[in-house]
Amino acid sequence: MAHELTELERESAEPIPDADELAGGFELVVSDHLKSDADYQAQMSNLGFGVDYSDYMAHATWHADGGWTRKVIEPYGPLALDPGTAVLHYGQEIFEGLKAYRHDDGSIWTFRPLYNSARLNRSGRRLAIPALPARDFMESIVGLVRADARWVPQQEGASLYLRPFTFASESFLGVRAASRYEYLVMASPSGPYFEHGFQPIEVWVEKTYHRAGPGGMGDAKTGGNYASSLLPKVTAHDEGFDEVMFLDARTATTIDELGGMNVFVVMSDGSVKTPALNGNILPGCTRSSIIQLLESEGVSVSEVPIAIADVVAGLKNGTVTEMFACGTAAVVTAIGRLASDDFDVTVPAGPMTKRIYDEITNIQLGRAEDKFGWCYRLA
Ligand SMILES: *Cc1c(COP(=O)(O)O)cnc(C)c1O
Repeated sequence: MAHELTELERESAEPIPDADELAGGFELVVSDHLKSDADYQAQMSNLGFGVDYSDYMAHATWHADGGWTRKVIEPYGPLALDPGTAVLHYGQEIFEGLKAYRHDDGSIWTFRPLYNSARLNRSGRRLAIPALPARDFMESIVGLVRADARWVPQQEGASLYLRPFTFASESFLGVRAASRYEYLVMASPSGPYFEHGFQPIEVWVEKTYHRAGPGGMGDAKTGGNYASSLLPKVTAHDEGFDEVMFLDARTATTIDELGGMNVFVVMSDGSVKTPALNGNILPGCTRSSIIQLLESEGVSVSEVPIAIADVVAGLKNGTVTEMFACGTAAVVTAIGRLASDDFDVTVPAGPMTKRIYDEITNIQLGRAEDKFGWCYRLA
């Protein structure tokens, strides 16, 4: 059955005003301490992922009595927080991740920004954080990227990673939703997410710990889900694994996702499966893009519960031919091994994973036709 558009997919297809019209909505506070040319050169010639930051950040504040105020692009720098700031105690926080790409002609673009804007607000509803209007979101992205344009790298595989986030900034130790929030966007010039390039990752299938459970926050992009994933990740790392795959919390038999990436399974008949959005899975923009791309190419994609036992059996008898994980940071990464207490199987490399990676990145970089209208010009 063909994929029915989700609310996020519908919201992300709304028209967006031109960037020239949005520029200036967040007022620029000019920095008097831009990074020196030497620091700039050093950073840009040695790009990691999320280790260095740009000159500016976007910032707005929400008060219960006035809504969002003081929308600025200001010099990047530390925040002064009272030790009683609510987020430090109860974790009321949500975030997003998207990228600014430099096309071959020097222009700067981003990919489906309204998906991130809509998802920020969807996550916010779950964590009782006030919504940010889509126009404010877009103004913050346009304003920041224009101020930080020199930080959008030109190298192959590199981009300016953008991290919008909102947190409870009221100082108050009682347990309730805060009456004050900060929204920020920081920017980090970044190279490829995985240091070793397009190399299959080895994945530990976790049966004891879960990142999210029924009625929890699994489909919200919030730090708490990451906090719960770290202990199993540390243990898996010690055993030589790159990532952890989480199973459903109720039965520990079906695949949810990795700590921060959605999962796809490629079958020998050419069809593709991915876990259905069951409330515990983050509805990834990359996941959504892959489903729409594959269906437009006539590939059958089913969103269904996927039993880990069936995947292991399928890998042994050849009906499962490839597996990959996807997310904005790494785009698409092949899974090369799946192991747990009671199995350890190799996942073959195949053409579908690389093909999808190429198709998505070619659209993002303006090298393939953007038939879905996913690219948005920032500058
Ligand atoms: C962000 C995220 C993803 C991937 O989402 P994209 O929109 O594709 O970047 C997947 N799982 C989790 C838990 C995430 O936080």
